[in-house]
Order: sequence, then structure tokens, then C-alpha cells
Amino acid sequence: MMSDLTDLQRRDREHHLHPFTDFKALGARGTRVISRGDGIYIWDHEGRQLLDGMSGLWCVNVGYGQRPLIDAATRQLETLPYYNSFFQCTTEPAIALAERLAGLTDERLSHVFFTGSGSEANDTQIRLVRRYWQLNGKPEKRTIISRTNAYHGSTIGAASLGGMKPMHEQGELPIAGIVHIDQPYHFGAQTNEAPEDFGLRVASQLEEKILALGADAVAAFIGEPVQGAGGVIIPPATYWPEVARICRAHDILLIADEVITGFGRLGHWFAHQRLGFEPDLVTFAKGVTSGYIPLGGVLVGKRVSQVLAADGGEFAHGFTYSGHPVACAVGLANLQVIEDQELLANVREEIEPYLCAGWSALADRHAIVGEARLLGLMGALELVRQGAERFDKSLNVGERCRDLCIEHGLVMRAVGDTMIIAPPLIITRTQIDELLEKVDRVLTHVADQFA
Ligand SMILES: *Cc1c(COP(=O)(O)O)cnc(C)c1O
Repeated sequence: MMSDLTDLQRRDREHHLHPFTDFKALGARGTRVISRGDGIYIWDHEGRQLLDGMSGLWCVNVGYGQRPLIDAATRQLETLPYYNSFFQCTTEPAIALAERLAGLTDERLSHVFFTGSGSEANDTQIRLVRRYWQLNGKPEKRTIISRTNAYHGSTIGAASLGGMKPMHEQGELPIAGIVHIDQPYHFGAQTNEAPEDFGLRVASQLEEKILALGADAVAAFIGEPVQGAGGVIIPPATYWPEVARICRAHDILLIADEVITGFGRLGHWFAHQRLGFEPDLVTFAKGVTSGYIPLGGVLVGKRVSQVLAADGGEFAHGFTYSGHPVACAVGLANLQVIEDQELLANVREEIEPYLCAGWSALADRHAIVGEARLLGLMGALELVRQGAERFDKSLNVGERCRDLCIEHGLVMRAVGDTMIIAPPLIITRTQIDELLEKVDRVLTHVADQFA
């Protein structure tokens, strides 16, 4: 028998500490209990259907209920639910997925280090790039440059790489050897500069920082191709090629954190393939298994893997669940679904153009939308009083908008007053119409209340 909702909420409140949550406020409101998923929809405990405009937490790329993933997990659980990759051991799913992932970049990124999550993968990046420069006889090359408002995960290392002030303030972070430059947030900067010029100017901060620290002290630069948790910040087209040029010019490793942008989110296996740059290392997680089971890792380019595989001895790093066979089997099945259902081309040629047109139209119809931007299946609406003027923070307009979305059967996320979507890649035109129609109605309500 199903427990009744208030009972579930009570037990949740009494024993469960949720991530990134004000426990007292949540306890007062009560949690939403999600019970079931199918396609792009989820159902809560009371049977209410919601269009999942966020793919869970940016991860359920192939949608809910995909049989090949479920079967792959079941088969692997029956055959070998666990074995490790320590002490000269490995498993077939780990081998096959590593090979498959390398193949997604024509083996330019030739090797994979598996982890259990994106945070662990970014911690691994810190270890890897410092180890790389040690092995190259330059142990003093250890500082990593990142960006304000970046999100790279929540472990001590990953949160330090990230540029989230509230996280730093609660944890005496960042740890030593990690510094931050500005993000390429054109709307947020409220500048009259053309986006292309703005992109180059913000990228030039990387060069200034490298020169200030001395290139012989800098190990790497890390960035999300498109910032996710920071508010779907899409850099101008000039930004990434210039960042890559600067990294090459000063012999700095380039890390792309593709935890959100990988596996079809931008209509390619990886966003760097679309944005025109070649990273030395790539962080992945989330969409690699469409979130069906935890898995993350680092794709390691030849430059780094060749040094690691030379005479350096043991790389003293790893996790119990590195290369977990069930997770890797699900990852393989997930990549196969993306390929079989031609989801990359579907995003690029079919869904993105259609969604993009409707998304821009929202900004034309609603004065409270200061900017509508979208790349691949990552979109944001900037809610404003007028022009680029923000609402008073205390009004919590974004949060209110998110709650209204739920009331209208749509999951959107609010980052401050920036409303975000990242729907599953299997979404159809009809379902996009449904999504847009819901957002349209919600925006009318929000405008009535706040404008
Ligand atoms: C979610 C996320 C992470 C952290 O992944 P976890 O699996 O939650 O540890 C890292 N980087 C980016 C860009 C993310 O969006």
C-alpha cells in the first residue's frame, strides 16, 4: 500500500537532509514526492503529471523508461553486479565504455578515468593536471584558473574550482592554488559592447591572469562550454577559440567540464565539437548514463595520457566505484540509444531550431523577459522589471515563477530571476508546443503579479 503524502513528508523531514536546501523552510513547505517517469514526463505522489523541462537535473537525456538501459542494468546485475578496477583487474563493460567514449572524439581523447560523479571527476582533474606537470619536471605549474559563478560540483576540490560565492563562504574555500576570472555573461554585464568584442575581452582576462601568476605557475584552465547551474550562460562565439589560443600560447592545459553539455545536449557528443575548440581533458557525468545510475569520469587527451603511461610510476588516485560494471553497461546502452534514435541530429536539425523560434517569441510577447537565449537544448529567460533592470531580490520572482510552472504542470528551474530549461533530447514538436504554451501562460501570471 502506498503511504499517504503527509506521512511521507513527515518521515522525509525527520530523517532526510536534502542537497542545497534550507532544511527549515523545506520542512515547513513539505517535499514533493516524485513517483514515476515515462518519456519526458514525471508523476508526483498524487498522480499529477509534470513535463520535465529540466531532464531531472540536466541528466535524463534519453528520457524516462528507456528499455535498453533498464535491460542492460538488469543483465549486468545478474552477471556481475560489482568488481573493481584496482590491482590489475577490469571488467568488460568498463573496457567497452572506455573504448566507446574515446571513439566519440576520433580517439583524440584517447583514455578514460572513471569516477562515480561529476564532482569526483573534477577532483580527478585537479590530481591529473598536477601529476602531469610533476611528471614533466615542472611541479611548480600547479595553479588552476576557473571562473566566477562556475559550477564544477560540491566536493572540496570541485567546489573550489567552482565560482559559487555561497559555497565558498560556507567552506573556507577555495583551497590553495585555484583562482577565478570573470564569466562571459553578456546580459549580466549590462554592457553595450557587441557580444563578439565582449567575448574577446573576457577571454583576455585569462591571458592577464596567466601573465600575473607567471605561466610557469599555471597548470590548467577549466570551464563549462555553456555554464549550466550559473544560469545557462552562453558565451559569445569568439570566446572559446580565444581561450584555447591563449592556453596553447602559454602552455596551459585546457579542461572542458562537459558534465551538462556532453552527450547530445548541444546536438553533438560534446559541446567543444560545436564551439570550435579542442580541450586536453574533458569532465563528464550526468548524461553519460542519462542519470539512470551514477557515473562520471575524465576523458584524457593523448598529450596527458602519453605522459601518464610513460615511466612515472603509480598515479595514486581512484575510487571504489571507478569503472563500476553496472554503470558502464548502462552508459553503453545509453550511447546506443542516442545513436539508434539519432538524437544528435534530431536536436540539431529538428528540435533546437523549432524550440529556439518559440523561445525567442516569448521575449517578443512578454515585457518581463529581458533576454531569451538558447543553445542546443539549454535555454534561459531573464526576468526583468524592464529593459535590463532586475526585480528587487526580496520579491523572489524567479522562485515564484518556478512554483507557478509546477502549478501548470511544468518543471523549470530558477537561478535567481533567470528561468531555465533543458528538456530531454527525445522531446517532440508537439511537446515543445505544450512546453511553450505553459511557459507563456506562467509569464502572463508573473507579469500580472509583479510588473
Ligand atoms: C552537476 C555538475 C557537476 C557535478 O556533478 P555531480 O555528479 O553532482 O558531482 C560538475 N560540473 C558541472 C558542469 C555540473 O553541472
